[in-house]
Amino acid sequence: EAKAAGRNTLRLFDTRMQKCAESRAELESDLRRALERDGLHLAYQPQVSEAGHVTGVEALLRWNHPTRGPVSPAEFIPIAETSGLIIPCGEWVLDQACRQLSRWETNALTRSLSIAVNVSAHQLRHPGFVHQVKNVLHHTGADPRKLKLELTESCLVTDTDATVEKMKALKAIGISFSLDDFGTGFSSLSYLKRLPLDQLKIDRSFVSDVTKDANAAVITRSIIALGQSLSLEVIAEGVETECQHRFLAMHGCGIYQGYLFSRPVSVEGVEEYLLHRSERSAALA
Ligand code: C2E
Ligand code: MG
Ligand code: MG
Ligand code: MG
Repeated sequence: EAKAAGRNTLRLFDTRMQKCAESRAELESDLRRALERDGLHLAYQPQVSEAGHVTGVEALLRWNHPTRGPVSPAEFIPIAETSGLIIPCGEWVLDQACRQLSRWETNALTRSLSIAVNVSAHQLRHPGFVHQVKNVLHHTGADPRKLKLELTESCLVTDTDATVEKMKALKAIGISFSLDDFGTGFSSLSYLKRLPLDQLKIDRSFVSDVTKDANAAVITRSIIALGQSLSLEVIAEGVETECQHRFLAMHGCGIYQGYLFSRPVSVEGVEEYLLHRSERSAALA
């Protein structure tokens, strides 16, 4: 009887595994189709300085599935990574972001905006990566000084020498680098000295607990101090409350991103947000 139960559990497990694999395979082919047929788009989330200026935006990939509705990047980016689709997907994101940079160049309201683009470890490891980025900049005419690439600690644990070389080649043409989700990975602090970074991005998990949890507060303050002593800009992600904002400001964090300021929005949404803020500051002046 125990054996039979075991067999049943096993069968149930097999069925679940199979369902899961099928759904992954289905999502993968749907994602490929979306990429080919204009089914993806970018949302942009404003990044605001302590003085209240919108310094840039982060580009976030969005996929509105024809039957499932919106699929979270947390679900489809891993699929894109294991299937290799992340390479053309990543190129599409860069291309879209750089086109947007070029368009924003022509308008006084948006001219100074930078765009941060997420780059996954697989993309960075791809031998053609530097060439791909240069190529996109070339054909879109975007200003490389307005392009920031967000890497995660997982990009840095393998092949550090090769990574540093790639980063240097891109920095030489004006691109800057941010270390995303900082504090959640397991990279040693010695990496920080070797890597040609410009910015540390404090992970949302610390920011969200900063006013509730003593450990999160200590870690957040340490990251800010670390950034300052390495002359890196520090940005906090996932800022949702005025309390969190005040804590971060008090400890010297320079830039904020989060729902307190704006959710990720469309291009029009970014422009409206800028207009709204400039009107408000004009009214206050
Ligand atoms: P991330 O790069 O750390 O992006 C920040 C995530 O936090 C975004 O989730 C954003 O919508 C969310 N967020 C921003 N402010 C707040 C807030 O105040 N509260 C809360 N609760 N959440 C906030 P999203 O867009 O779902 O993206 C998830 C992750 O997917 C990103 O994390 C990034 O790792 C990855 N991703 C998104 N777009 C791309 C892309 O184009 N390429 C690659 N390789 N990865 C991407
Ligand atoms: Mg990011
Ligand atoms: Mg992040
Ligand atoms: Mg994060």
